[in-house]
Amino acid sequence: MTKSSSNVMALAPPAPNKRETVCIFGTGDFGRALAHKLLQCGYPVVFGSRGSQQPSSVVPKDAEVLSHAEAAQKAAIIIIAIQRQHYNFLTSLAEVLRGKVLVDVSNNLKINQYPESNAEYLAQLVPGARVVKAFNTVSAWALQSGTLDASRQVFVCGDDTEAKKMVMDLVRALGLTPLDQGSLLAAQEIENYPLQLFPMWRFPVFLSLGLTMFFFIYSVALTVIHPYVYQKKDFSFFIAITIPNQVCPVMALTLLGLVYLPGILAAILQLCRGTKYRRFPDWLDKWMLCRKQLGLVALAFASVHVLYTLVMPIRSFVNWRTSNRIVSQALNNKTEPLDNTRAWISDSYLALGILGFFFFALLGITSLPSVSNSVNWREFRFVQSKLGYLTLVLCTAHTLVYGGKWFLVPSSYKWYLPPIYMLSLIVPCAVLVVKFVLVFPCLDKPLTQIRQGWERNPQHSK
Ligand code: NAP
Repeated sequence: MTKSSSNVMALAPPAPNKRETVCIFGTGDFGRALAHKLLQCGYPVVFGSRGSQQPSSVVPKDAEVLSHAEAAQKAAIIIIAIQRQHYNFLTSLAEVLRGKVLVDVSNNLKINQYPESNAEYLAQLVPGARVVKAFNTVSAWALQSGTLDASRQVFVCGDDTEAKKMVMDLVRALGLTPLDQGSLLAAQEIENYPLQLFPMWRFPVFLSLGLTMFFFIYSVALTVIHPYVYQKKDFSFFIAITIPNQVCPVMALTLLGLVYLPGILAAILQLCRGTKYRRFPDWLDKWMLCRKQLGLVALAFASVHVLYTLVMPIRSFVNWRTSNRIVSQALNNKTEPLDNTRAWISDSYLALGILGFFFFALLGITSLPSVSNSVNWREFRFVQSKLGYLTLVLCTAHTLVYGGKWFLVPSSYKWYLPPIYMLSLIVPCAVLVVKFVLVFPCLDKPLTQIRQGWERNPQHSK
């Protein structure tokens, strides 16, 4: 039974040019959500369903519900909103589907679940149809509720250029952004996208968790356990503010160093190999790809350090220490003269920290897509490389000025271990020293040539 179309009325104002009917196979969650959006945008929708005799009450009332064969005849674009395991019945419709654009929207439950992508499988089942992969990264909920901010991009791929263009036009008409990913070979990758959970964040997050745990335990050992063992002093309350405020800057500086370390390693590799045409090891490739995420985690640690530092003056321990000093000065009837060197060191340390954090925040802001899209490649590289190194220099100097005077004091090495801030200097100092060496013309010149395509031994390049 065909649903009456007398009351068919698109929610959007009628378009000047009548839109082509779009057919959707399957009246499930995704089919209905897409139909809702298509109707809103002025597209007549016809469903191909097993239940065409008794259409479901949840199907949008402005859409027709027909059998698969009847519905397919009414449209040039057919969206297959059915799970892959039910595709078999489509072989019986091969004749009706000949020349039609079949849009595969399906996803899988596991990465690389099948040997071929669902879209390629569909193309094998209906060889006469023009299969295009699209819409699989958009959720039914987002389509229906209109909250598409996070998923406005629609990855599209297919072997038939005209069919792909038709689908991309449809995507655009729905207010979404089509991204052409090439031939149907790309479908497997596109089908894996929704199954990936923050792939670029995994390494930075696990690394940060591991390092934070290590530095926290290290700091507790030196700041709480050591005074308890040797002086019977209970500084366990340091765990709330003092220790996090030691760990956060150490993490920020170490991670910032780790953002620039892979670039240094890549430069050394290229210099040693004398070519840029040999692939970097996999681990280095992956490390380079997640530098932005490492930098953002570092910025988060730096921001927390700033917050902790701001509350220092209202801490009861700090108040107690200050008043104790004043009282002891009063009792001894002597005041401490202003130590100009100390004042200089303290002010320089604070100034370097403020400037370092300012440039750090600037780096974070320029890495936002909305900002990075508005600058050209050269400007982006200038900010991320030159300003990035300036930030690293300022933050390293901030730490050096803070603790430099205790480097040669034996009592600062409790249990023969260096204080935690000294550990944070290892990676950034190594990066800055090697970077400084790489700037020398005898290394910089060949490196620039290599990066422009010159090769020392062309026969070994591939
Ligand atoms: P669903 O709610 O389970 O609906 C699937 C529809 O397929 C059913 O309503 C049914 O429609 C049809 N169907 C079921 N068994 C069939 C069979 N044996 N033969 C023929 N048709 C059959 O699934 P869905 O969530 O709408 O997902 C549909 C497709 O969209 C899937 O491939 C999914 O991976 C993809 N997708 C879904 C989302 C989402 O957010 N849900 C997002 C992106 C992509 P009729 O009863 O009308 O025949």
